[in-house]
Amino acid sequence: MFIKLKVLLSTVNFRGTSVMQFLIRELHAHLNGSISSVTMKKLMAQKPDLEIQNEMTVIDKGQKRTLEECFQMFHMIHQITTRPEDIFLVTKDVIKEFAADGVKYLELRSTPREEKTTGMTKRKYVEAVLQGISACKEEGLDIDVRFLLSIDRRGGPVVAKDTVKLAEEFFLSHGEMVLGLDLSGDPTVGHGKDFLESLSEARQSGLKLALHISEVPNQEEETRLLLGLPPDRIGHGSFLTSAAGDSCELVQLVRQHRIPLELCLTSNVKGQTTPSYKQHHFGYWYIIGHPVVLCTDDKGVFATDLSEEYHLAADTFNLTPEQVWNLSYESINSIFASSSIKLNLQAKWKKLKPTIFSPTVSSVSC
Ligand SMILES: [Zn+2]
Repeated sequence: MFIKLKVLLSTVNFRGTSVMQFLIRELHAHLNGSISSVTMKKLMAQKPDLEIQNEMTVIDKGQKRTLEECFQMFHMIHQITTRPEDIFLVTKDVIKEFAADGVKYLELRSTPREEKTTGMTKRKYVEAVLQGISACKEEGLDIDVRFLLSIDRRGGPVVAKDTVKLAEEFFLSHGEMVLGLDLSGDPTVGHGKDFLESLSEARQSGLKLALHISEVPNQEEETRLLLGLPPDRIGHGSFLTSAAGDSCELVQLVRQHRIPLELCLTSNVKGQTTPSYKQHHFGYWYIIGHPVVLCTDDKGVFATDLSEEYHLAADTFNLTPEQVWNLSYESINSIFASSSIKLNLQAKWKKLKPTIFSPTVSSVSC
């Protein structure tokens, strides 16, 4: 581990952000959106009849798409991942790529999907993800991976209930591997109130809630309802701070409950819900000292990785190496795993800190 640290520090001269390649965790990563071009090519080679090109599933640097176009891309990706073996393969590849980026703790999320053409059921889908996680563990990868089942808004309340039931079953049968639920999908479809009952039930069962909230403007009513649960983490929250309407009250609610925000800079800029990096709401929440966690959202689709997100935040908001380290360290409090896992991660971070910031670091070896 320290050998790589030495190499990184001697080759990357960037406000110390390179150190974060060793100290990062990812808490907002959708499995299908995280599939890299390399994995996508493997899958496409197995399904030549689909005639899907790489550029149909990735938004390269400098390019942007509307949120609607982004969701069309996910539809395309779903056509390539239709069998449990596809899900197993992408889970393993995604975890290995996060590990290669230096991520030590990862919470993946995905909507259980059934495919009549291949006989894949929602249960088999979840099992394939969990098998992928176990396979990486058996290979000895230095990354702790957990899973959240996603409720896709498009499915409506009935499907949401089934997803909660499935999550509860896996929560009981797989210890701490399955930790909670995510509410996601096209934010312009359906209404948050349709999911309140399912989400409350999940909460009572001990599952944690990470909800995409205020991803698009003018959703004050829905936001207020979802914040009332309250969720354990908020995905994006891009329009919580908008000057329109009574959003100030919403900000107060988030602050009052100290609900951590999962913030994804590249995703929001490329998906055009934020006009620029400089105007990203990271700045607002960071300055007031509210808990924020940098995440990738969909590293495959948005062609990014977690190190890049830390670089962007440091560069855009002029963060010192110490501030970047603290940002990473503080976000351990927002993970869904147990306090003993938190304590282990905190100890790991603290152990690395003096080494990272030591002026004699160049002499550090294993
Ligand atoms: Zn997301």
